[in-house]
Amino acid sequence: MFPLLKFSEAQVLDYYAHVTPEMVRASLAKDRHDWFDLLNLTSEAANAFKPEMREKARKARIRYYGKTVSVYAPLYIGNTCINSCRYCDFRVQHQGTVRRNLSMDEIRLEAEAVRRTGIDSLLIVAGEDPKVNTVEHLAEVGRMLKKMFSNLSLEVAPQTEEGYRELFKAGYEALTCFQETYDPIRYKYFHPAGPKSNYDFRLWTQLRAGKAGFRQLGCAFLLGLNPWRPECASLAAHAFYLMKECYEAKVQFAFPRFCPVEGGFQPEYPVSEDDLDLMMLAFRIVFPQCCMTVSTREAPKFRDYIVQYAADNMSAGSKVTPGGYAVLEQEHAPDVAQFTLTDSRAPQAVYDAIKANGQEVVFKNWDNRI
Ligand code: SF4
Repeated sequence: MFPLLKFSEAQVLDYYAHVTPEMVRASLAKDRHDWFDLLNLTSEAANAFKPEMREKARKARIRYYGKTVSVYAPLYIGNTCINSCRYCDFRVQHQGTVRRNLSMDEIRLEAEAVRRTGIDSLLIVAGEDPKVNTVEHLAEVGRMLKKMFSNLSLEVAPQTEEGYRELFKAGYEALTCFQETYDPIRYKYFHPAGPKSNYDFRLWTQLRAGKAGFRQLGCAFLLGLNPWRPECASLAAHAFYLMKECYEAKVQFAFPRFCPVEGGFQPEYPVSEDDLDLMMLAFRIVFPQCCMTVSTREAPKFRDYIVQYAADNMSAGSKVTPGGYAVLEQEHAPDVAQFTLTDSRAPQAVYDAIKANGQEVVFKNWDNRI
């Protein structure tokens, strides 16, 4: 569990087991919500209230985000990694992966290909390789890309507060760091070696980035590693904590879910689309002001639905291999992805689907240069 929570996992599970329809109704009737409301709205009993939750979430979403959906693209700059995450094909022990770190020219080529699709927000992603992806290198990448994009986000190895200060100066303003699981024992099992095996250093990543000036702090657990309800309780507690400690920043939620594929990692606690729907609606109701993104791992139909009720942000035309937008095509090389993309639509098809929902595509919703 999130370590500052006063409750053990057994107590949280016991609470969940005793949530009644009246408790769900009472949470739905409130205007301001607390941690217990999140538990009520993600309980088994809440399933019977999906239509009411959908309506409440839709109104909350419209109040803070109107009829807009902001879009972004991830840019994988490298996939060498010294970690041993049991669920990831980029782990150091995995032999089958083609490893590559893009040069500055290749990164520029990739970025230009993304920019041509209209996208103005870029998420820089890399494996953890301290010899390659140093703060200096990431800062150099940031300085180059900030001339091309209004918004730069990072999803790379956790850094020190000082490191984040340098990266913020270089142009990055948002950060995503999945805790994977808030259960320290399960965490240790899934991350047996490498710097990522340090649960605490990862857990306080958003806090360090927030103190360094980052204005958006992305949090998540990996759906499938552990029973999802206690993870939701921890994620909510983590978010409430960050909202207090880093009040100038916005928390962003993501719900990355393992969708089992043949030959891939088989999650021990698979999460259904219905469960995912419930938790996204609940988080939108309890945290109406927070950002929420929907993963490219999800099917187009679910993504197009959930951006109307809960999520305010989605990727479009994602490639999750270094060089996937332009470099590999130039080289006639195959694309080897980190995880299976379920939504493989081209960016224009995603924009068209958003518009068909009566929503507006937002390419740029922030620019610190103004
Ligand atoms: S999940 Fe990230 S840190 Fe872990 S092996 Fe994959 S790329 Fe490396």
